[in-house]
Amino acid sequence: METRDLYKVLEVGKGASQEEIRRSYRRLARKHHPDANREDPKAEERFKEVQHAYDILSNPEKRREYDEGPRAYFGARAPAGGAGGAGGGFDSNFSDLSDLFGSFGGAFGGAARGAARTTRGEDVTVSVSLKFKDALKGVTTRITAPVEEECDQCGGTGAAAGTARRMCPECSGRGMRSRDQGFFAFSEPCGRCGGEGTIFERPCAGCAGGGRVRTNRQVTVKIPAGAKDGMKVRVPGRGSGGRKGGPAGDLYVVTRVAGHPVFERRGDDFLVDVPVSFVEAALGAEIEAPRPDGEMVKLRLPAGTQEGKRFKVRGAGAPRARGGGEPGDLVVRVRVVVPKKLSRREREILEVLAEEREEDVREGLLRVAGQEL
Ligand SMILES: [Zn+2]
Ligand SMILES: [Zn+2]
Repeated sequence: METRDLYKVLEVGKGASQEEIRRSYRRLARKHHPDANREDPKAEERFKEVQHAYDILSNPEKRREYDEGPRAYFGARAPAGGAGGAGGGFDSNFSDLSDLFGSFGGAFGGAARGAARTTRGEDVTVSVSLKFKDALKGVTTRITAPVEEECDQCGGTGAAAGTARRMCPECSGRGMRSRDQGFFAFSEPCGRCGGEGTIFERPCAGCAGGGRVRTNRQVTVKIPAGAKDGMKVRVPGRGSGGRKGGPAGDLYVVTRVAGHPVFERRGDDFLVDVPVSFVEAALGAEIEAPRPDGEMVKLRLPAGTQEGKRFKVRGAGAPRARGGGEPGDLVVRVRVVVPKKLSRREREILEVLAEEREEDVREGLLRVAGQEL
């Protein structure tokens, strides 16, 4: 077995970046993977050689040691001789083709591993229950939002004070593990180190090593006037804190507005039913209707108003919670009420009325019948 330069094995220059090394490794590992070269007994050997070179050069510490004195590595771990050689099979986490293909350009690429990566905090959504009146007029309210923050004790590193990081023994610093699923294997972030590639000798007591703590944050939120049920109010930067200096996520407050027994909301309009007697409807009358803001509005009912007739009171609906503009309208719907009980006098009057109207009704019926014939 001839001793070869690891940089030449990976076909990269001495000054290659981690990204270049990773890319080259993946290309070569695919090319020489035994599964793709079943006819070639030398493939496994070449594959192992590439893997070995990558093991060293992808790890900054090992790479530095190799650069200073490469011989030590060849002595310690010479590539196995030929197919079916010592060791029997592959010990690398990247030994499956699907793993190599699968992680191409994926979210768990080498660039994302180990290195300090700033991540935006998660958005957090909470709901707030509002009274009808508060939703209409707008309200400033305090809510409790369960958010995640960087741990105070360790500043988000997850390490106990005075503890150093060391390479994760589970994944040998790769941050990824491969999991077999029948014929295929999938790579997933290492469970031990969470994809970081390094672990702490002693985890922080404040966060159990996770670097994050859950906390209930009190947030004052301004609900705009005219808020509808299910409206999302965004509070920028009040969600979970970012990682490693990344920006915080946003807080979304979803409004839950109680229904009203009298007013039915339709967009920014309100519908209200106002009962009137059949006498008022027939003769015309001045009536009063309630507005959602608690005021009353006077309406002139013309003579002969029909059941279900609607009157619009402009601007008496809900303010536009978004984008401004004219507020909605109040729609007053007339409900003609027929009395269930009559006094003796009312009955007498109505009976007179009935006699007078009898002729009209007959004539009307005959007219309709005649037309149909
Ligand atoms: Zn790990
Ligand atoms: Zn901590």
